[in-house]
Amino acid sequence: MDASLPIKAVRHSSPGGENLTLSGLVKFGENDLQSCEDVESPGFEAELLLSALLKCRRLDLYLRFDERPGLSLIRQYGFMLERRHRFEPLQYITGREIFLNREFSVGPGVLVPRPETELLAEEAMRFLNRGPFLDLGTGSGCIAISLWLEKQKALEGYAVDISPEALGYARKNAKSLGAVSPKLHWVKGDLFHPLPDHLKNAFEVIVSNPPYLDMNRDKIGRSVRKFEPLAALDGGEGGLTCYSRIFKEAVNWLKPDGFLILEMGMNQAGPLMSMLKGNSSYRVLNILKDEQGIDRVLTIGFNGAEKKYG
Ligand code: GLN
Repeated sequence: MDASLPIKAVRHSSPGGENLTLSGLVKFGENDLQSCEDVESPGFEAELLLSALLKCRRLDLYLRFDERPGLSLIRQYGFMLERRHRFEPLQYITGREIFLNREFSVGPGVLVPRPETELLAEEAMRFLNRGPFLDLGTGSGCIAISLWLEKQKALEGYAVDISPEALGYARKNAKSLGAVSPKLHWVKGDLFHPLPDHLKNAFEVIVSNPPYLDMNRDKIGRSVRKFEPLAALDGGEGGLTCYSRIFKEAVNWLKPDGFLILEMGMNQAGPLMSMLKGNSSYRVLNILKDEQGIDRVLTIGFNGAEKKYG
């Protein structure tokens, strides 16, 4: 849409726009986003965009509904709507997403944390006791930071990502969420490669949301495909490439009774179990379904971990 539209529309209904309220602006946004195919809840998104612009929480917006926005705010809101019409992810426009009740900064170059990944982080929390833990492909840092803070900042944690942009967001998030510490390490590199030798067979929990989509076969939303980083999504043939590397290499990095906890994509539980068959080091302990009933989190015990489990 044309970014000057809100202003025109406002002028149309009330000359000069002086009678427009924030509530009217949300209504405008809601109507405008109705024609945008990718938007499932136009009213909700309209509120999220405006609250981000006002740097407040969505619910606080309701207390401010009678306020009258200035023209510059209306114009900026128009630009936001325009970006959404070009299928940019909502969270790239607002610059933020909530993960396990904490606000993470996101933007181009980093995967937006998904609600189903909260399940993965919660499962890792359950198994994490003494640490250290390792988060492979940390992205925005949402898993590593949540784990570290939930465990009272007491454990040692390592978070790896190959993308410098992603690590930039992760470090920024660690700072804004009070998770900067010599105990929480941000490491740039490819899976286990950058880790020092003294961490061999040291990790109690290895957690990962690896790239697991098959870009040729999976149905992938336009905004994801067009805007989110391919390195965080593309899991090669069947989406399984990264898992085979993790299974092969994790034996060198897990503690004897440690846990490997992985997010997976639709219909991947079966193929992943087959990959593990014949590998006596690993035993599948748990599979969690997400809200849509899709097998989403795979928990694997390493060499005797099942004795601890239950
Ligand atoms: N869950 C993401 C999506 O469906 C994919 C993330 C990943 O590959 N790990 O868009």
